[in-house]
Amino acid sequence: MRKLLTLGILAQLTLSTISFAQTKVVAHRGAFKNTGVPENSIAALKEAIKMGCDGSEFDVHMSADSVIFVNHDAHIQGIAIETTSAKDLAAIKLSNGESLPTLEVYLKAGLKQKKTRLVLELKPSAVSKERGIALTRRAVAMVNSLKAASKVDYISFDYDICKEIIKIAPKATVQYLAGNKTPAELHADGIHGFDYHFSVLRKNPEWIKEAKSKKMITNVWTVNDEPDMDWLIEEGVSLITTNEPEILLKKVRK
Ligand code: MG
Repeated sequence: MRKLLTLGILAQLTLSTISFAQTKVVAHRGAFKNTGVPENSIAALKEAIKMGCDGSEFDVHMSADSVIFVNHDAHIQGIAIETTSAKDLAAIKLSNGESLPTLEVYLKAGLKQKKTRLVLELKPSAVSKERGIALTRRAVAMVNSLKAASKVDYISFDYDICKEIIKIAPKATVQYLAGNKTPAELHADGIHGFDYHFSVLRKNPEWIKEAKSKKMITNVWTVNDEPDMDWLIEEGVSLITTNEPEILLKKVRK
């Protein structure tokens, strides 16, 4: 009996180890596509949290007077975020009636729970390289001041932004998005992993094993088709970023 119990505990431990290593689900711009709420809204973040996503991704830009707002594009409703004041941007309503969220409001909403990580994409500036770095410093300072550091992962297409985060927040995790660096190159620069388009990994499938062997994060965007999801789960990537979190959750949690 005692032996059976020990075996049972061992089996449970093994199972929990396996589930820990399972591919995790990141809702791209929140869970917006099948829920009918606007992308990158607080509502989309809440939907991702409600469905139990491991992470919810969102994008940020900085207003003319240095307030950070959550939006994918550099423009919203024809207004350029970087050259508009925070006061004018705060007056913009999304299609669900929600105000265009600031990073502060968005992080505070995300901090009301513990399960879903906040995957913060720092958008490079269209105005200047320096402005992208200034956005990065402000965003990291806000994350730290709200005590959100342990809940946030950073991603960016701009390699200098990735390196800046490592410099100013050595404990933060950073993934690079552009797909033009090998895992060895990222590793040498202290970047914690890649978050690459799935077509990059279709061309360089060996990068997944290489990154895993270096204990790097392997994240893939934006994977919406089931054959691609199945292949990446099989390859054991750490994270898949998707507009279809409902489908992916069913696959990884079965
Ligand atoms: Mg993004």
